Amino acid sequence: MHYIGFWARTIYDDPLVFPQELPICSDVALREKMIRYLNAGIVHEVYRGWSYCRYHCGISDEEMGDCELTDGTWVWPIGLAHYVDTHHISLPPEFVNSVLELPLDPSLSQYTTPDAYWIVWSQQQRTQSKKHLVSQLREQCDRECSLALEQEYESQTRETGMSSKKCIWKSCTSAALKDRVFCARHLDARANQGELKVYAWERRFHYTSVFLQALKSQS
Ligand SMILES: [Zn+2]
Ligand SMILES: [Zn+2]
Repeated sequence: MHYIGFWARTIYDDPLVFPQELPICSDVALREKMIRYLNAGIVHEVYRGWSYCRYHCGISDEEMGDCELTDGTWVWPIGLAHYVDTHHISLPPEFVNSVLELPLDPSLSQYTTPDAYWIVWSQQQRTQSKKHLVSQLREQCDRECSLALEQEYESQTRETGMSSKKCIWKSCTSAALKDRVFCARHLDARANQGELKVYAWERRFHYTSVFLQALKSQS
């Protein structure tokens, strides 16, 4: 079986891409056939939570569904029909052949893992310029996050004060925090701080929306 219709959540989710990166299907009759086909699948697997529309178009998560459907050859999230119906995305040619009852290319069998065909096809939609933009945005995001982390360590060190002993982390040359054996960075490395993770997620979603905005203005 081959999986289709699985998306990135942020620009860090290689090799997955966003539905916004796929070509538009302007053939209304074909879209209708695809929607009918997608809606006629049988339940393959039920998730533990709701999906959501990557376009944030206002459809509820419940309507995007919580399961995968299958026709025996293809497996797709139940919400895939919504992307074809409302956002007019194209789907891979091999899947379209199934919809049109055309023979499947035997080369499909070369994709031995369930999502290999989807990954190869959807990655082809991420052009060099998009890849470049993604890596620029990630660099900027990572820079902001590590800067925020540095500032956090500095203020923690200021607040707590420093010990006269060195941090015991292997090869660390900083002084340990007062009454501690680690410096702020290595205390954090051991404890993992919730707040900064939230900050990093927030920045990731922010830069993801910058990327999607750029896609929108290109089209
Ligand atoms: Zn939508
Ligand atoms: Zn240290």
